[in-house]
Amino acid sequence: MRSLCLLVFAASAFAADRFPVDWPKLDRELLENYSNLIRIDTSNPPGNETKAVNYIKPIFDREGIPYQVFSLDANRANIVARLKGAGSKRPVIVMGHTDVVGVQRDRWTVDPFSALRKDGYIWGRGTQDDKDNLTTGVMLMVTLKRMNIPLDRDVIFIAEAGEEGTSSVGIEFLVKQHWDAIGGDKGGAEFALAEGGGGEARNGKVRFLNISTTEKVPRSTRLIAHGTAGHGSVPRLDNPVTHLAQAVGKLGNWEPPMRLNDTTRTYFERLATISTPAEADRYNHIADPQRSAAIQKYFAERELTHYSMLRTSVVPTIIKAGFRSNVIPSEAEATIDVRALPGEDMPKFYAEMRRVIADPEVEIVTGNAETQRPASPPSRLDSEMFRAIESVTSQLYPGAVTLPSMLTGATDMAQLRAKGVEAYGIGPAIEEKDRNIGGAHSDDEREEESKLYGFMHFLWDVVTDVAAKK
Ligand SMILES: [Zn+2]
Repeated sequence: MRSLCLLVFAASAFAADRFPVDWPKLDRELLENYSNLIRIDTSNPPGNETKAVNYIKPIFDREGIPYQVFSLDANRANIVARLKGAGSKRPVIVMGHTDVVGVQRDRWTVDPFSALRKDGYIWGRGTQDDKDNLTTGVMLMVTLKRMNIPLDRDVIFIAEAGEEGTSSVGIEFLVKQHWDAIGGDKGGAEFALAEGGGGEARNGKVRFLNISTTEKVPRSTRLIAHGTAGHGSVPRLDNPVTHLAQAVGKLGNWEPPMRLNDTTRTYFERLATISTPAEADRYNHIADPQRSAAIQKYFAERELTHYSMLRTSVVPTIIKAGFRSNVIPSEAEATIDVRALPGEDMPKFYAEMRRVIADPEVEIVTGNAETQRPASPPSRLDSEMFRAIESVTSQLYPGAVTLPSMLTGATDMAQLRAKGVEAYGIGPAIEEKDRNIGGAHSDDEREEESKLYGFMHFLWDVVTDVAAKK
């Protein structure tokens, strides 16, 4: 497929053609470093990401790539490398995280830290999340340096600690205390590429590539019902358990209004082009006032992620009330996992929530803004970076569609977008049949070897397209 692409596009001046990469050699080194990084156990907690940084440092030393190490905690270092460009355009950041989530070893059929190579896959914790983005980023820097590619922009590589729930030692620390190093001068980096996207293939042929351009904003919220303590034998009208249960029930059944943004509108339009006629009909009519309610109901039952993409979601997750069967407590508490659409007016949203609960005995306690991920508008679909991604996708995967997407979960791109960086989530493709097995955070996490190589090629083509001298 690769040679066919080159033949077809030989006449045009694609970056891929300008820089003849020795792919078999690059793939060999990529696999070796990827496997070695998987073998370094960086389960978070505790993380111990410095071990991964100590693996990456000598690679950059050997190649003469300048870097800096920043640590808030000595065991949890971050490494930032930079290749200088002419400065005619603002820098591009390529980011991967070094930590992984823990494992339940007895649920794995292989050693999760052995990087076993079997049946065309590499097995192990972090193979999909996020040591693929991490290692391809390292190899991108190595290859740019070795080939001495002239750059218009600085290319900045960040290997960050703490993505899995402890951003305070990673992206937050870097953005707050070392913005000059990671963002650069002249208004900072223009673009960033990190985890959060990926393609889907059927029998090796990639059909679409999700590129996340935005994400929902976690706004964890608590409900506290207040009442008077008393004996369980005497019913009370202000029993907080009853009040809380009613409030939770109302919120759980509440459907906040649907709202599309540029990303989700384009997502559904483009998804329709590669879907069955019945699916396409739903995707094309989601905003149709005559049809929307029925389609939303279908999504709520059958396509849960699509349902979540339509609105700020309100999901009760924890209830804490009472301590013995014959005591009415004076307080009862519930946690509501609120995931806001980018641009949601939160004070207004909470006022609406109060109206739905309609109970003065139930207080809504919002989270501390300081410790929450910042909200920011979606990254643009008409930027040089997004256009490069679309063009590389159609070269490498003829017939595949680029789908801008909104993640329902949160990533460290939130902090970069809040600094004005246009950030795009990318990743390798997976086979359709593997969609529900061996994924990020799951037992027997694994990545198909050929897809890792395909992703390296994709990353190379995209970055050289936007950063190499034109
Ligand atoms: Zn991750």
